[in-house]
Amino acid sequence: MRRIAAHYLFPVVGKPLHRGFVTLNDENTIVETGVLQDETESTEFYNGILVPGFVNAHVHLELSHLKDTCTPHTGLSGFIRQMNSPARYRTPAAGRSAAMLAADREMQAEGIVAAGDVCNTAESFAVKQGSPIFYHSFIELAGLEKAAGEKKRQVACLLAAGVQSMGLTASITPHAAYSMSDPLLAAAFAAANEAGIVSVHNQESEEENELFLSGSGALSELFAGNGYPLPPVTGAHSIYRLLPYIEPQTRTLFVHNVTTTGEDYEAATSRLPYLTWVLCPASNLHISRRLPPADLFYKRNAPVAIGTDSLASNSRLSMIEELKTLHKHFPQIPLPALLQWATLNGARALNKEREFGSLCVGKRPGIVLIENIDFSNMQLTSDSKVTLLAGTDGHAIIS
Ligand SMILES: [Zn+2]
Repeated sequence: MRRIAAHYLFPVVGKPLHRGFVTLNDENTIVETGVLQDETESTEFYNGILVPGFVNAHVHLELSHLKDTCTPHTGLSGFIRQMNSPARYRTPAAGRSAAMLAADREMQAEGIVAAGDVCNTAESFAVKQGSPIFYHSFIELAGLEKAAGEKKRQVACLLAAGVQSMGLTASITPHAAYSMSDPLLAAAFAAANEAGIVSVHNQESEEENELFLSGSGALSELFAGNGYPLPPVTGAHSIYRLLPYIEPQTRTLFVHNVTTTGEDYEAATSRLPYLTWVLCPASNLHISRRLPPADLFYKRNAPVAIGTDSLASNSRLSMIEELKTLHKHFPQIPLPALLQWATLNGARALNKEREFGSLCVGKRPGIVLIENIDFSNMQLTSDSKVTLLAGTDGHAIIS
């Protein structure tokens, strides 16, 4: 048994507790929470706040070797150009594996206990199998050329079966509205609806809306230059190409949402009761120097989760750094809301809320300490940092 206490405990479900504590059994399952009456010798007391382990709702582990290799601020089409360049494949397999291992270790050290990881290959599976982090693998389908669609679908099915045979959860998912033919989009969403979960890149840039509104812009030029057919011009924002494919009961993660408007939000919300809006602010700043409208989502009490995206467009895989970025640009969003976005909402999006996301009796969510808090305003500071005090597997934490 361990009793861990701090100046404040943020259970996420319920109000923050001044001098709150959690008691853990030997497997790190929470057996009690409360307010500290008397500090006994056996109580571990920390200067900071206690929160559940973080859930990184969007990452691409297999792009970890691209850290510091992509030129920033090139816009989405510029980023896609860099992703498709031969430089991406120059690192040998051993180097790519080492980079993924280091990325997984960084996430552990940053208090991340669960992640939604997008994959195009089998390269990340072994790292995930050996990690205490819970990973759901989203096997991604993308392609505008109709001829290659069926072959890609078959490969994705094999990848999903492969990762599932290793004891990990996985499902097939579409990449984005702008990068897929009609048949491939239909096949990917059919598989995702059957699995009950989908994670799709949505409205990451203005270029995407432009493509669907008028068939012009930087994405259109990129695709035409590569000889790809363009997706249909619909005269509406890109999100409307996705909505008809998604069954209402499917847990849906819309990722990025940089150009989502109030009207787009209402249209999606009215159709999809299990929708989570995943924000990746540091990645958006890196690629296009823009931020998602976090205030729009906050004002509507929307279910928001947070992702780091990959090291190709971010220098860290750290949820606290994402929260600092949001706090800097949206200081009106209070800390309890940001913490819920980074924990419980991500757990719900990945269908893991019974285990992770809040400090409740019976859960084993991981216990995270955040130090260097501005207690008078109850806000993060630029020096706020994270320590995972108790993991989700009952093992001691190795620092
Ligand atoms: Zn992504």
